[in-house]
Amino acid sequence: MTEPGEQDEVVVARKPNDADARGILSLTPDELKALRRSRKHSGGEAIHVTRQHNLSVIRRLLYANGPQTRPELARLSGLSLPTVGGLVSELVGAGTVHDLGVVAEARVGKPASRVAIDAEGNCTIVLDLTHDDTFTGAIIDLDGTVVDRAQLSIGGAHGEPALDYAVDLARLLIKRASSQVIGIGVASPGLVDDTGLVHVADRLRWRDVPLADTIQTRTGLPTVVGNDVNLLALGLSRFRNRSGRDAIVVDMANGVGAAVLEGGEPVLGEQFAAGEIAHLTVDPGGELCPCGRRGCLDMVVGAPHLQRRVAAVGAEVLEPAGRTLGEVLAPIVIMLNINVVVVVGPGGLVEGAFADGVVDGIHSRLRPAIIEGLKIEVGANDPDLVLLGAAAAVMESQLGVR
Ligand SMILES: [Zn+2]
Repeated sequence: MTEPGEQDEVVVARKPNDADARGILSLTPDELKALRRSRKHSGGEAIHVTRQHNLSVIRRLLYANGPQTRPELARLSGLSLPTVGGLVSELVGAGTVHDLGVVAEARVGKPASRVAIDAEGNCTIVLDLTHDDTFTGAIIDLDGTVVDRAQLSIGGAHGEPALDYAVDLARLLIKRASSQVIGIGVASPGLVDDTGLVHVADRLRWRDVPLADTIQTRTGLPTVVGNDVNLLALGLSRFRNRSGRDAIVVDMANGVGAAVLEGGEPVLGEQFAAGEIAHLTVDPGGELCPCGRRGCLDMVVGAPHLQRRVAAVGAEVLEPAGRTLGEVLAPIVIMLNINVVVVVGPGGLVEGAFADGVVDGIHSRLRPAIIEGLKIEVGANDPDLVLLGAAAAVMESQLGVR
């Protein structure tokens, strides 16, 4: 494994790219059945849990309300002043919170100083492992500002070497960070469970890769891993204020994938496969898909296939493709009574006729009263959204911020 050192670009000999395997859930039914969401364990460590909870309450209050004095925090949290004092000291010691000094208008008695989350003094390191041949990364502060970026050419690497590249990119960014890194967030393709284990990511030929544990162990920083489309949805919701608390988000860029946000959180599903709509049959007599079946949604609307069909047949395929996607989304919209649908993909492809098709396809299946409350946005994807979503996931795990 080449050590990247100070370099941004590392290139290894390119191995044949198994493009046909891209985006396929290659799990057997038994393997899929074996995947079950872990149930949250409870009990034991009560005191530790309470303290962690209380720390997260203080961080959340400071994050949501801006600078506060310790007495104000005690009032807002319902905790005693000495308890709040201890918690704030711990957060100041960790560099998460800084003391702004005595408030000028403080009333008589002991002057109260205000404390605040140090948004610029803390940052997250985020990685996006979903692009062909390149891993991208960034340093993002707690306000959602991208303060630095890096990328690593992986030259078609997969398996263990790809994992090494992810660690290398994280280390490179850690070296560059000028503020305290609170954690690492990683967007991975494929099925990712709630412990950061990637059960399957075909493009990287990963099976049961403990991605979060590996990066955490090798960098010493707390690490969270999520599916790329789920993180994209989180990025939209937290930093762009576009999708709201409940939304369906569809990304067409690397094969079609979807995320459902419920109460602002991505729905994972019992086997972490919620939103895996790529191989839903939409045209039983259609083109043969690499998964072995015919007429999968990905063959109709996934950007690479759609681009290929536009080149071969012409732009007239765009509107019907959009309509097909809309018809697939309509039942989900009404099943969950969701009012926001966001579809992103390559701008030149999804804007215009395709977008019109999506809207028509959804509208054609729903009653007017439902359509009235529905907001459908179709537009160009912004690669920063996945990175911002990864930053939001780190903040949620480390600061208890939602
Ligand atoms: Zn398929």
